[in-house]
Amino acid sequence: MSLVAIESCRSYSFEETQLVMKKVIEDIGGLDFVEPGMTVGVKLNLVAAAKPDKATTTHPQLVAHLVTMLKEKGARVILGDSPGGLYNDATMTHIYNQCGITALEELGAELNRDYSVEDVTFPEATVLKSFQYTAWLSKCDVVINFCKLKSHGMMGMSCAAKNMFGTIPGITKPQYHYRFPDINQFSDMLLDLDAYSKPIISIVDAVVGMEGNGPTAGKPKAIGAILASKDMHAMDLVCANIIGLDREGVPTLQAAYRRGLIPDSVESIETTNPVENFVVPDFDTLKTHSSLLFSDTFGGGSFGKAFEKIAGKLLRAQPKVNKVECVGCKKCKEICPASAITMVDKLPVIDREKCIKCFCCQEFCPKGAMKVSKSWLMKLIK
Ligand code: SF4
Ligand code: SF4
Repeated sequence: MSLVAIESCRSYSFEETQLVMKKVIEDIGGLDFVEPGMTVGVKLNLVAAAKPDKATTTHPQLVAHLVTMLKEKGARVILGDSPGGLYNDATMTHIYNQCGITALEELGAELNRDYSVEDVTFPEATVLKSFQYTAWLSKCDVVINFCKLKSHGMMGMSCAAKNMFGTIPGITKPQYHYRFPDINQFSDMLLDLDAYSKPIISIVDAVVGMEGNGPTAGKPKAIGAILASKDMHAMDLVCANIIGLDREGVPTLQAAYRRGLIPDSVESIETTNPVENFVVPDFDTLKTHSSLLFSDTFGGGSFGKAFEKIAGKLLRAQPKVNKVECVGCKKCKEICPASAITMVDKLPVIDREKCIKCFCCQEFCPKGAMKVSKSWLMKLIK
């Protein structure tokens, strides 16, 4: 298991971020894998057209330093992502502009304009043996995963492992929720995608993260750190700890643990600084997956699994519209992969039998009006 570099960074000032970005990258062995003329694809988190101070997307100041370091090595650098929705030049230009990424062209970075997709077969996968992939990444010699630390309605946390879901063309993403409706299967799908994409290093922007109704409608929360590692899953376990979650609270970490990719606890991971120095005790997370704890409690046998299934259903959060904030734009209805939403009197009504709790409606509501609501049992336990 590789070292996880974690350093304090309290602001997005040029000087501080430059110093810290250099330090975390040096700590994990530097950029010696870059050869002159090589094409490096940097997979950012550009999930929405949001200004950098909203803490929704990877901050451009950090990306600027990475671009400079890569250019100094003689690399061609391409920045990109495929958020949910249309994957075309009009959409992406708007997102690049809003997220402050367009300005990085002045440093010599290219913004991805190749919106082609390719059919992939991946026989080694656990569940994702065939899929469509955003082709620009296949044309790069190496990929760097540069994500943002946020709470996430469906997955507990959005960090390195989840970020690579943006390698799937945006408009087809809801289908994957339908293809893998079980949260453990969905997590296995994400891990397969991580294994296929094989980022050479992963970096986390955790200077200011997002808490609450993440990954797009939460609130910025100061965390004060930048992390880097060759091992995205070990780094995700560190990040989960920082925001008050453990392995059981993040299904992708559970999947990584089942595959033997991470240890039982964060104490077994080698870090450059003690993780406890970075813990944010009042970080507002959505602990939606505590049911998995029951499976551990009862062991991996059939009773534990049956209990997990029932408890999982009863404990899992669900989307709920805030009628005051909703503007009746129908975006949630259009994106819902299960066709579980109908509009009644200009408000979305969710068919609970059909809903697969993918939280696409929450993630893509432009007004943040679709919330993550804890189940009655979870509220009772709390
Ligand atoms: S996407 Fe949001 S604002 Fe639009 S109808 Fe749905 S809940 Fe309301
Ligand atoms: S209602 Fe929301 S959470 Fe339920 S299936 Fe539709 S998009 Fe997913």
